[in-house]
Amino acid sequence: MKLKNTFDECNVSLWGIASLKGAVDNDGGYRCIAFGLPYDDAAVEALPDDALHRECKARLNDRISLISDAIAKAFPDSSFVGYGNANKKLNLRENGISQKVLAHLAGLGWIGRSSLIVTKSHGPRVRLGTLFTKDDLGEINSPPENRCGPCAACATICPSDAITSDSFDVNLCTDYIRTLDDDTACGLCMQACPHGKSEGYFR
Ligand code: SF4
Ligand code: SF4
Repeated sequence: MKLKNTFDECNVSLWGIASLKGAVDNDGGYRCIAFGLPYDDAAVEALPDDALHRECKARLNDRISLISDAIAKAFPDSSFVGYGNANKKLNLRENGISQKVLAHLAGLGWIGRSSLIVTKSHGPRVRLGTLFTKDDLGEINSPPENRCGPCAACATICPSDAITSDSFDVNLCTDYIRTLDDDTACGLCMQACPHGKSEGYFR
């Protein structure tokens, strides 16, 4: 309840708690708290122009730091560690565990065809924060089922052919992004997903 109250005070509605059992070789007694903050729709709709998106990303990163600090302050006796330190303790990268996989395990959404997390409230238009603790701060969530269904909007729009109906090739995506100039991003898969659009499936 106290964790919920802290997230409420920080105006965060998209959050959950994940067990790491079975996800990493040795969870060290840690569980994960994942939360997501929505991108401004204007920043996503302006893509591939990167100016608004970059500004929004920086602002969300600042908020994620403040929220992480607020949670740590609300639980001064807790054993909180951030994502970077957890990486070292739990070998997350070696176990193939990224922030979006943790967010999926914490019930925030599913991993879509685009390889992005697709949340019920904002589709893939979210920036993620992640904390770890050994304390029992609430109910463990279950990962939701994939709800991409027959949709292929991200695959259709992807300029690098990184996304197919049943696979995602990160190298094709990063190679394409390297060809773009400094003022241009891609993120078209985020923009195209119907689950994040204001007229989309869930909003
Ligand atoms: S960021 Fe662009 S290139 Fe990469 S997967 Fe998404 S749409 Fe394709
Ligand atoms: S655009 Fe469609 S296929 Fe791609 S992640 Fe979103 S729902 Fe899934």
